[in-house]
Amino acid sequence: MIVSFWINAFIPVNIPNLSTEVPEGDYAGKTMIPGPVPHISDCFLTDNRSFSDKTNASSRMHSACTIDTETLDFIPSHRCDSTHELDCEDGEVECTKSGDTTRMTWRVSQKAHPKLVLELRGASNNPCFTASPDIDYEGKLWFDADELSIFFSGKVDVFPAFEAYAQLDNGPIHRVFSIGPQRGATPWNLPGGATREVYGLVDLTPVRPAPKVTGPKDQLHPDLIAMLESLSSRLGREVMITQEGGKRTGPPSKSAHHSGIAADVAIVFIDEGGDRRFMRSAEVADELIAEGFRGVGEYWKDEDVQSVFAHGDLRGTPAAVDSGEYASGGEKEGPAVWSRVNGKYRKGRKSGRPGHLL
Ligand SMILES: [Zn+2]
Repeated sequence: MIVSFWINAFIPVNIPNLSTEVPEGDYAGKTMIPGPVPHISDCFLTDNRSFSDKTNASSRMHSACTIDTETLDFIPSHRCDSTHELDCEDGEVECTKSGDTTRMTWRVSQKAHPKLVLELRGASNNPCFTASPDIDYEGKLWFDADELSIFFSGKVDVFPAFEAYAQLDNGPIHRVFSIGPQRGATPWNLPGGATREVYGLVDLTPVRPAPKVTGPKDQLHPDLIAMLESLSSRLGREVMITQEGGKRTGPPSKSAHHSGIAADVAIVFIDEGGDRRFMRSAEVADELIAEGFRGVGEYWKDEDVQSVFAHGDLRGTPAAVDSGEYASGGEKEGPAVWSRVNGKYRKGRKSGRPGHLL
């Protein structure tokens, strides 16, 4: 797994008593602030945003690292988005340059599994104004691969705004800390090092449904339950037998459901936004086949829309032989895959995926 951490320094769109609207020109309607040296420089475009967890959100300084949770190897990166100097009166662009990232660094302080400690230093000044004061951030990042936790403790300048986030793989993004400009602070307060303390701890452990089998399990063959439980623990996900998906009577007359050796199941997962969702029928069918089910059906609402459950049964296994009426029928001995599309059965997988070759 990969853990990402990133920190931004950015100039918010609205700073009381400081930001003003660009009157005309290419950036009309956006906001700008006076430059870092009183009475000398022009105005500068803000990042025209509030706090944002997007990794590409416009920033004066952006430092990121990605950590491999197995090896603790890390990849550092740094970025300064373009600075735009504008004439304060007419908004005319007078300079566009990107800041220098050479004084922005990540350094390994300790590396001993499961812990990795990194030191961050970040300093960069306004590229359109020689010898202008730096924006500074600095701190230490503790990563624990066993706990999947990130702790950051550091300091930032009184201006502008700062934010940091962490994410495991493509999972939810967690805010580590965020802090706006100190009240009344301006770029004129930038000279000197970082003084405001910031810190945050986040637990990146993914929230996932408990691996278990749920739904109407009564009167189902123990081998069937055992296979569903094995599937559930292999995926680390809930395997849910649908409402009518356990033992039942009714059509079709030779249904394996009648003898308790079939289940219609859905597989639950938690998506990136933390919501409970279901896999699609063809993916569920893949998992049932991989688990060793010999009779597997894919379900489609119509030609284009998959349902979220699939059928798995124990045909061709000892359980089927022991199941009286079902086994005596003799028509369901071998492996079979089929699809039901809008209520009609057809041979093979509608999705075109492999049958029992997985
Ligand atoms: Zn079924």
